[in-house]
Amino acid sequence: MQTKKIRKMNNNPISSNQSGWSSPLAFFMSSVLGGEFCLVCGQEPPLFTDRLCEDCCRKRTKLALVPKNIPWVRCARCGIVELEGKWTDISFDQLWDELLQRHVQVHHLAEQTSIAMEVEPISERHTLLHIQVEGVIDSLLYQEEHTMRARMANGVCITCTRKAGNYFEATVQLRSSARRLDEEEFKALRDTFDDVLDSMPNDPMFFISKEGPVQGGYDVVLGSKGLARSWGRHLISEFGGHAVETNSVVGKRDGVDVTRLTLLYRKPGYDLGDVISFRDALWRPTSWSKDGAIIQRVSHHEKTGVSWRDLESANVSARRKDILEVELLTEDASVGEFLDPTNWQMSSVRLPYTYAQQSRILLCKIEGEWIALPRLGIDEKIKYGSQ
Ligand SMILES: [Zn+2]
Ligand SMILES: [Zn+2]
Repeated sequence: MQTKKIRKMNNNPISSNQSGWSSPLAFFMSSVLGGEFCLVCGQEPPLFTDRLCEDCCRKRTKLALVPKNIPWVRCARCGIVELEGKWTDISFDQLWDELLQRHVQVHHLAEQTSIAMEVEPISERHTLLHIQVEGVIDSLLYQEEHTMRARMANGVCITCTRKAGNYFEATVQLRSSARRLDEEEFKALRDTFDDVLDSMPNDPMFFISKEGPVQGGYDVVLGSKGLARSWGRHLISEFGGHAVETNSVVGKRDGVDVTRLTLLYRKPGYDLGDVISFRDALWRPTSWSKDGAIIQRVSHHEKTGVSWRDLESANVSARRKDILEVELLTEDASVGEFLDPTNWQMSSVRLPYTYAQQSRILLCKIEGEWIALPRLGIDEKIKYGSQ
């Protein structure tokens, strides 16, 4: 015995087959003698439903109708369950509850009903559900015990059928512009897929049918166009860049064109916080905009929006992961001194325009020279390597 739970149920109406017959003798007695008698056995009051005595009432009344066997189907590949034609991922506890709700019918006149269930696994396919039902009908309390045998049958869900048939609707191609991404960067892009999937409602078409690295990037082949587009939007908001959609007709099904979507996502060669050289100056992208990025100048306060097209000429001078946070040992109005972590020699750097005696500054090395970076809003969220 595994679980035991008690709960109230709504009364599911069942057809009542209680009217229409009675003992001719009882009918004779009650009509001739005029008094109140049980219509079946002639017993004196108290009488209950259909003017029957308690014994006769109990003999003819069933509080609950419970089928002996109830089949259910589980996907043999992934283990999800089919309930009334829909495949759902539910726990066993939820499954037994569902089967109880769907198959146990309580008398439509019953009040104050409660149902308790104990689950007894017999084998992988068979589970006994022991059910105790209690309820009041016409002020008589009924208590019944029933056993349902839940029988599992193997099936294959839609998702697994489609996967097995290599079904797909969309390909998302992860690529980069300007700079080749390393494996870790592709992994970071790919990992966001799981977040997107988690945030969306369950759908049998939300699956990956194939994925892997390809020349110059990484491809993910998906069962759903909608999922591909959602992921594309997520990638853009998270990493910037843009996506291009191509639809191709691959055939006809029931007279309708079957199309496949290819979504080519290009991640820019830089991340927010990187240092890029653009139009002969150093800048840092600080947020993505609809069609490009907002960039801030390193040398002095200047902020501007630029399009992806503009940024095609930009080069990455230092990646965010190369930025260091160091302690200043001395400083004057415009220059600070620090211990160069690469050779432990005293070095000096021009202080950034945002500097306000906080003694720790952000540094990166560009073309062999240390450059101090102004501290921007985005830097508060990033943990830099420090000396
Ligand atoms: Zn009777
Ligand atoms: Zn499955």
